[in-house]
Amino acid sequence: MPAVLSLGRRPRCQYPADASLSGWCGILPAAPRLPSLEGNQQADIVIVGAGFAGLAAAKRLQDQDPGLRVVVLEAQGLAWAASGRNSGFVIDLPHELNSDNYTGGAQQDLDQVSDNRLAIEFMAAAVDQFGLQPHFARAGKYHGATNGAGLKALHDFATHLDALNEPYNKLSKTELAELIGTEYYDGGIFTPGAVQIQPAGYIRGLGQALNAAPNTTVYEHSPVVAIETQPEGALVRTEEGSITAGRVILANNGHIESFGVAKGCLLHLFTYASLTRELSTDELAQLGPADSWGLIPASPMGTTLRKLDCGRMLVRNQWTYNPDLRSSDQQLARYARQHDHCFARRYPALANVEMEYRWSGAVTLSLNGSPVFGEVAEKIFAAAGCQGLGTTKSTLMGMLIADKLLGNSSDALMRLEKLPPPSRMPPRLLNAIGVPAYLKWVHWRAGKDL
Ligand SMILES: Cc1cc2nc3c(=O)[nH]c(=O)nc-3n(C[C@H](O)[C@H](O)[C@H](O)COP(=O)(O)OP(=O)(O)OC[C@H]3O[C@@H](n4cnc5c(N)ncnc54)[C@H](O)[C@@H]3O)c2cc1C
Repeated sequence: MPAVLSLGRRPRCQYPADASLSGWCGILPAAPRLPSLEGNQQADIVIVGAGFAGLAAAKRLQDQDPGLRVVVLEAQGLAWAASGRNSGFVIDLPHELNSDNYTGGAQQDLDQVSDNRLAIEFMAAAVDQFGLQPHFARAGKYHGATNGAGLKALHDFATHLDALNEPYNKLSKTELAELIGTEYYDGGIFTPGAVQIQPAGYIRGLGQALNAAPNTTVYEHSPVVAIETQPEGALVRTEEGSITAGRVILANNGHIESFGVAKGCLLHLFTYASLTRELSTDELAQLGPADSWGLIPASPMGTTLRKLDCGRMLVRNQWTYNPDLRSSDQQLARYARQHDHCFARRYPALANVEMEYRWSGAVTLSLNGSPVFGEVAEKIFAAAGCQGLGTTKSTLMGMLIADKLLGNSSDALMRLEKLPPPSRMPPRLLNAIGVPAYLKWVHWRAGKDL
């Protein structure tokens, strides 16, 4: 556990600053902004970050102990960061971004599926409670392969699902083409348990609904700049205000390093997405008969596609190493061209359809796949380090860190607490050479999946 003062030594931490407007936020109707924190306040628990982890923690605390005074401090607008700018797959089955295959003992996988489904049902309950149904669809997901290696990976995946007794449909090239309107893929698999969300709609709706509850307040545009531990808890400072709180939950993903926690243990990547303009009825008909569907690639570095029921297509691919948690306009422009190219290769008849929105977003990994979870200094807790699958995993972490604070125990919490801490990364200079080289290689290996 790091020295308590390491959280408060830095007068200013590095603010998150996601520059581009994501398509998900762009297509939502405008909503009134929640206030920023001003002046001094008291709370039982302060949560830093209003993403999947922070809002799940706030909801769990509110559900279990409505008398607790909970304040959520979000540096940007609700849904402006990764939680509102991802591809929106909420995945139940084991799927590790940093592994090539579906491995691990059967029991470990069964536990993971059961934990992921806990998070999904928690989200579903929030959706029902707060009227967020338009942003949440139990639609399942396709996996698509474009080459022999991808087909083999899907075959191994299917064998693995058989062992876990999980349902799936194998799809031939022709069957998949009929469903998604392109013969680009050599075959695929459909698994029914994944949910597809409008991530910005879900996060914004959840944050606003929690803020409307009597004892929970969500402040937007209130970046936490310092946390000082005190005998009775902690003093959490923003630019304009401060909160004296009994306990603090750091749910700020990769930015947790700015507070000196898990320093040198997190890998900061960015990935990129584009969203088309609204398509005409004729154009939409070329994307398969269903109003909406989502496909993830057999290769972890391949292209994700979603057809949205609002009549647009989403394309996401490419990963870059951005240790300072900022991606550049040049990177966005470079990968925007790639998105056009990837979309045109899959749908040549729609090659001239313009992308209305382009954006990038941060993802935090660790070398051993462990998050930063638990008490990291006295009265300071963490639920951070999303591993790229945070719609599910960060929701779960948020729920379970709240349980830990409330003194609730469960198998899921025990499993999370048993994980080793994130392992140390190689020195930054080595990473600066090694990570981009590795990414180049894995992108190359993705072949046509990209
Ligand atoms: C383009 C893209 C596609 C993706 N697709 C998927 C997908 O399909 N499925 C999936 O599971 N995952 C996906 N991801 C990853 C997913 O978005 C993340 O895993 C998830 O958002 C992590 O949630 P979180 O709450 O842990 O962190 P975040 O979403 O990063 O939220 C942390 C919050 O903390 C705030 N914060 C940081 N520092 C401070 C501070 N000092 N003070 C106050 N607030 C602070 C940030 O502004 C942010 O709102 C994708 C990511 C991207 C970028």
